[in-house]
Amino acid sequence: MDRAGYLYWPFQQHITIVALFLTCCFSRICGSEAPIMPAPSPTSKGIVYIVLAVDTEPLHVSGTGKRLELDLSNFLPDTSKIVARVMSPEWRADFTDSFSGHPKFTWFVLTSEQICHAADCLAIFDAMQNFRNDVRQADDEIGWHYHHTDWQECVSAGKTDSSWIQLVSFDGTTYADGADVELCENVMNQLIADRGFFPVSFRAGWIWENNEFSRWLENVIPFDLSSSPPLKTLSNDSTRCRANESDWSRAPITLVPYHPDSADYQSRGNMKRLVSRSLIKNLTVNEFRVLSALADSGYDAILSIPIHSYSNLRFAFGQKLETIIAHLNRNGTSFKFATCAEAFQPFVGRVPSEPLKLELHQKDGGIVIKANVETFSTQPYVVLRSSKGMLKRAIPRKTEKRTWVLDLAGLDAVEIYVAGSTLAGESVVQSIVVTPR
Ligand SMILES: [Zn+2]
Repeated sequence: MDRAGYLYWPFQQHITIVALFLTCCFSRICGSEAPIMPAPSPTSKGIVYIVLAVDTEPLHVSGTGKRLELDLSNFLPDTSKIVARVMSPEWRADFTDSFSGHPKFTWFVLTSEQICHAADCLAIFDAMQNFRNDVRQADDEIGWHYHHTDWQECVSAGKTDSSWIQLVSFDGTTYADGADVELCENVMNQLIADRGFFPVSFRAGWIWENNEFSRWLENVIPFDLSSSPPLKTLSNDSTRCRANESDWSRAPITLVPYHPDSADYQSRGNMKRLVSRSLIKNLTVNEFRVLSALADSGYDAILSIPIHSYSNLRFAFGQKLETIIAHLNRNGTSFKFATCAEAFQPFVGRVPSEPLKLELHQKDGGIVIKANVETFSTQPYVVLRSSKGMLKRAIPRKTEKRTWVLDLAGLDAVEIYVAGSTLAGESVVQSIVVTPR
């Protein structure tokens, strides 16, 4: 039985075919890297895409030791609560872009081993179901926010203790609850198999990435708003009870997305995925001038504003938007409210002209997977459900153009789920029940 994707969040279907412009040579906002981009549009000015990026987390996490409780009251469908207050169309109508549009939010829903222990791994994703209709009507997007963490013995200030620590490896190192890659794939497997959801937009927990994680993302998610230059908080002390460590000190300071290098996630390279900067601080008057000069020269840019969902979103975004709109209007710069995926679309070049479909059928001891259009990753993300209900990722082998086979020999699989996405930011999940052989 095939099952269509979009069971929960059917709004990642935007397809645009847009010209491609990249890099720049302005200071601060545009960075000082040598330009490696095609010429800007000779006929039109660029657009600044404004993304309201919410790291969607509990209001509080309480408890001691490994036992935790989540306070998810910020997700109640009550108009006095944080998330509900910014779902209000009346509030959003107070802010208008150059195309008569109003703010859109990208809700990067948190998953982590901590959440898995406190509740269900997908507790935040499920809490956002309260706003399923609001999200659809406002054309918001659901993205993924993954905190790479586990409960571990560590040493802090000379004392040995156990704590939830940030993991900074992604090479198969084993921790208390499993190998680092498995901890991450455990939640992705559940999102795909149990919720029919395959995200196309990502923000890293603690904004931490390394090269191994970047290469993993290359086969999973096209758009990434984690970059935050010039921040660097990495510690060399492997034993401390670590959190909040990241390094974006060498990443392009530009507000234009870059393709990372597979050997260095902070350098421009040939990976297919796109990374763009989210602002930690507000732009200065001079930085707004530089941004407007960039747009005047025909280049598009992404202005991503990250805020946590336990903050007063209406107040925090309201203040920032008033400032941004005033500066851009004063400078005569066109700006457009966009989801993360929409904001990246002008930078991906040619995209499929028809919606992605994945066809699955069982043949000769394997599951054949066919895509009708080019997919973002070199192979789809495949999840097996075993006879005991356990989920596990499997890697299919490519047999011909846009076709893969998952060999079933030796696998305990009763159902197979296949997720794919396009560079246009469209994703689908299909499943097939395995016929006993
Ligand atoms: Zn976070």
